[in-house]
Amino acid sequence: MWMKILEIDLTAGEHKVIEDEDLFHMAMGGTAVATHLMERYCDPQADPLGADNVIVLATGPFSNILPVATKTVAMFKSPHTGELGESHAGGRLAMSMYNAGFSAIVIKGAATEPLLLDIDEDTVTFLPAGSIWGYSTTATDRVLRSGRMGQRGKRSIMRIGPAGERMSTYACATVDTQRHFGRLGLGAVMGSKNLKALMIGGGRYLPQPDRKRFRALYDTVYESVVKSGEMRKYHDLGTAVNIRNLNHLQGLPTRNFSQSWFESAEKISGEVFGDTYLANQIACAHCPCGCIHLAALREQFHEEHGFKTAQVSYDFELIYALGSNLSIDDPRAILRLLHKVEKEGWDAMSLGVTLSWATDAFLGGYIGTEETGGLVLRFGDADTYLEILNRMGEGTPGFFSNLERGAQVCGELYDCRHLAMTFGKNEAAGYMTGPNAFTDFIVGVRHSHLDCAGYALDQAMVKMEISVEDQVKKMADEAKFRMLLNSLVICLFARNVYTKDIISEGLNLLWRECTTDELETFNADILRRKYEFKLKCGWQPTDLELPGKLTEVITGAGRVTQEDIDIRADIYWREVGIPADCHVE
Ligand code: SF4
Repeated sequence: MWMKILEIDLTAGEHKVIEDEDLFHMAMGGTAVATHLMERYCDPQADPLGADNVIVLATGPFSNILPVATKTVAMFKSPHTGELGESHAGGRLAMSMYNAGFSAIVIKGAATEPLLLDIDEDTVTFLPAGSIWGYSTTATDRVLRSGRMGQRGKRSIMRIGPAGERMSTYACATVDTQRHFGRLGLGAVMGSKNLKALMIGGGRYLPQPDRKRFRALYDTVYESVVKSGEMRKYHDLGTAVNIRNLNHLQGLPTRNFSQSWFESAEKISGEVFGDTYLANQIACAHCPCGCIHLAALREQFHEEHGFKTAQVSYDFELIYALGSNLSIDDPRAILRLLHKVEKEGWDAMSLGVTLSWATDAFLGGYIGTEETGGLVLRFGDADTYLEILNRMGEGTPGFFSNLERGAQVCGELYDCRHLAMTFGKNEAAGYMTGPNAFTDFIVGVRHSHLDCAGYALDQAMVKMEISVEDQVKKMADEAKFRMLLNSLVICLFARNVYTKDIISEGLNLLWRECTTDELETFNADILRRKYEFKLKCGWQPTDLELPGKLTEVITGAGRVTQEDIDIRADIYWREVGIPADCHVE
């Protein structure tokens, strides 16, 4: 790996290249390097939408070298939660950072006018972006790709849409073809810095140290991806296959988590999307799996046979957030919503849960047509949801702007916090499988299903009997192990391909010699550092409550109480070494 950081100061309009072998030797890459760089560059008290917030991008020692090590970690202070923000994206970004010769990029300061960064190896050009400010994510991509900018090499384009410009706290940053730094508001941070887009590329390569050993390792990983069946599900129907599976297990959130199964799930299953709407499948750079499913959305724009066809990415989380959770059973309607979300640049999960909160709040009488400008909200009414998105896109103050701040803020503003399906202020992912999923959302460092895979443990518990203590220990072990996977920035869909033996061989070949004990210490240290950063931002483990509504519904594992969560959380904090009542000054 390059062991170089590109530091960009937007305020000064300057950049420099920092060689830091010690950092990469110690912290490997990805999430671990990003955590260290956040400690170095970002005051935990920084205003998330101020110039003193930073954006860190980091890749790992396997990036662009081994298959499916495709992701880039973004770290920043989140405007959505007010504490550590972390999000991962695929596409071509990791490859392009490699080709440019950097293992990490730090962006600090803020520009006074809309700006586009064009990074070509060591040359960083600050270009005015006023002419594309206001453009959708798709139009921005089209202009940058076809224009005079960014001609050389294998380029990646990361940009924001109007939602990021308006600083919606859950605006995402879009990478290449419908890949995203989706969660926790990186798009708003870019918007606050007047950074419309970043293009990066170059032509640099590093020679492999031991070609014979490398070839053997590469072939093992490649063969496992394409032949073992470990990743077939992702290639075939993609994660959308989980709609039917989770519905069967009664773990599919429906109508703002009122119910854990959707009576019309078959109509929006991965099978239906695959058979009827699938138009194309693509892959992140250097992934032979290709799990990105794009549907064709053909829409009439003029009475006289005027049609346009857009390709819209879909997967399980998107279908849950804008489908079952809003009680929408028409795939075309879901695609129309997703297309709008894609162009504006919102995080689809946070948006979907905020819309489901709004519907519940309307039905419960907490808001009325006075707030909604005359709109009557009902579950299943896709046209009204589309109209809400249009009004949010207009950015006028009031109810529709409040929706851009997420379900928890809205729940507090309109006195129905119990209806907001948020955990640590982050909107819930699509799992209503039981107490381990909810515990994962609550205690996970990103408040995401990706932290400790509690949803998978709930599903496994159908066939297993182990104590609560051991269940939580498994989750804590998973959280620590994911520090390693996310420092290598392997796509988590390949987590079963990258066995401990393969990782160990790869590290010895491409990073440095290290023992199993050393790796365990490394994982625990990075996880603890992240929690410490969160604590310094003001986050408190004791503040984490189950949304009130969830104590009244039936999950795939039955009813879940706050006490169930508290017991699990206490075990988790002990296992990861964070006292539940701690304060860090
Ligand atoms: S499995 Fe999918 S998300 Fe993962 S690297 Fe491949 S194409 Fe990208």
